Amino acid sequence: MLVVAGLSLRNLHPRVWDEKSPYYLPNLKAVMLSYGEFHQMAARRKQVMKIGLHEYLGLSKRPKSVRVYLDNGAFHFLRQNEETERKHYRDFVKKAKPDWYPIPFDSIPTPQMCNDDQRACFKRTMDINRWYEHDGYIPVIHASRLLAEYIQSVKANTKLLNKRGLALGGMVPNLLRMPKAVSHSDLLAVLEQVRSEFPHKELHVFGIGGTATLHIARLLGMDSVDSSGWRNRAARGLVQLPGCGDRMVKNLGNWRGRLPNEEEWAILRRCQCPACAQFGLKGLKSKGLLGFCNRATHNLHILLSEAEWIEKRIASGTYPRAYAQRLDNTVYRPLIKKLVKDMFSADRSRSTSNGRSRNAP
Ligand SMILES: [Zn+2]
Repeated sequence: MLVVAGLSLRNLHPRVWDEKSPYYLPNLKAVMLSYGEFHQMAARRKQVMKIGLHEYLGLSKRPKSVRVYLDNGAFHFLRQNEETERKHYRDFVKKAKPDWYPIPFDSIPTPQMCNDDQRACFKRTMDINRWYEHDGYIPVIHASRLLAEYIQSVKANTKLLNKRGLALGGMVPNLLRMPKAVSHSDLLAVLEQVRSEFPHKELHVFGIGGTATLHIARLLGMDSVDSSGWRNRAARGLVQLPGCGDRMVKNLGNWRGRLPNEEEWAILRRCQCPACAQFGLKGLKSKGLLGFCNRATHNLHILLSEAEWIEKRIASGTYPRAYAQRLDNTVYRPLIKKLVKDMFSADRSRSTSNGRSRNAP
């Protein structure tokens, strides 16, 4: 599963994708920028439309080494002049040449919405999916109470059905047990259905949070996920540890978190990510941009390593024995247990016989 690192146009440091950067992470294969930020920063938008996203990020010489994903920034456009904005988005896609880009401005339902509002989002999003069925735009569906209907609607449209990619939004808000969210067991059943109904599609999940949701997305058979959690956590003084939750290494005054215990400090001391290898614990605890860059690089390194850990264990069949020790104390443990059971049970032969091995990396 490909981990796509969400970037921010407001601060492109640490340049983890850039071979020339001290924070370069060679196992990072894709990054994501949001169109919402380009919309707010006119000069940057103009510049990128002139030279393209790859050159802007310093990737022009090896365009295939790191893929550039574009998020449509749907949240920014909730009350805007939609048709004009869609045209601006199309122009941007054409000139900036991202490797991956969704339809413009899907209507994102929240778990709290009433059924009528969720249906309005569904209708709106499916309309846009159909308007953009003819080219490289990735259709979007949402993990709402209407996910099963999304699946049927995509299946009913040959062009959408034949598109290579499909993106899934709203998975994490629904996993977080927000009011009116779909029950976990219902949600899992329909998420598993997305994979089984579209066995050949490249499925992308928008906005996974941290380590546990990474495991869930992989067990669901998703092909790629994006996350900005590595930066958000770093900005709050938090670092991630393999397999477990966040720990606070720098008190920035506006956030409280669990401090690392002795064993966890020792793990951090041994970390070989580019930030820890160069600056050690002192680097993680630094303030300002330096501290942020160190913590962010460390966090992304942990996320990428976790994805590799998962792939290896799934490929060797040892995941069911190994995950419980790896993932300490997550609220998602029952869900992961259920997904492991589904993946490694007798059903496995059935789910892999329709042309796609869910266990292949
Ligand atoms: Zn580190």
